[in-house]
Amino acid sequence: MDREYDVLVESSEIQTRVKELGRELSLLYHGEEVVVIPLLRGAFVFAADLIRAMDNPVRVEFIGAASYGAETVSSGEVRLTLDTSFPLHDRHVLIVEDIVDTGLTLSYIQKLIKSRNPKSIRTVVLLDKPSRRTVQTDLYKTLFTIPDRFVVGYGLDGPGGLWRNLPGIVALRDETEKKDID
Ligand code: IMP
Repeated sequence: MDREYDVLVESSEIQTRVKELGRELSLLYHGEEVVVIPLLRGAFVFAADLIRAMDNPVRVEFIGAASYGAETVSSGEVRLTLDTSFPLHDRHVLIVEDIVDTGLTLSYIQKLIKSRNPKSIRTVVLLDKPSRRTVQTDLYKTLFTIPDRFVVGYGLDGPGGLWRNLPGIVALRDETEKKDID
């Protein structure tokens, strides 16, 4: 993947902001139990760092949502690929998402979780592409706002499902180069 990408967010910047967010959430929930729900698969790296920066009792449940298939443009269709196994009624729920693009995935998941009557529901997002939004979503905090470019790393994958392991966020240069990492 040599020279075919631009680094948008350095790993050290991510680590600093995630630790700050963890401290803020610990104060906000004030020692109360929280059910943290990373949306699979992209949010698993962000969530793994975030929960270790929180010092209140945390339970982790996973929701799997897919809106992309093998494409790099949203199909507009959300599929639930995995659901929680623990009741969310009367619990503090913290949804953890990697990136909000059109907002379709998140708004679908937020509606689903609200229907289970949690005590509170908040969403934290690593990356925001506001220029692409078609559906409004309720975001407690977004860590980085990025331009409309396809990004990979820190849990986010590119075409072919690769590059989730990069420690920072990088933007692919163009369609030709996207194919190079397949
Ligand atoms: P939305 O439903 O259009 O907001 O899309 C959100 C989902 O699309 C995210 O959870 C990601 O899985 C995926 N996605 C959107 N933009 C990117 C990107 O730049 N890189 C990798 N995945 C992306």
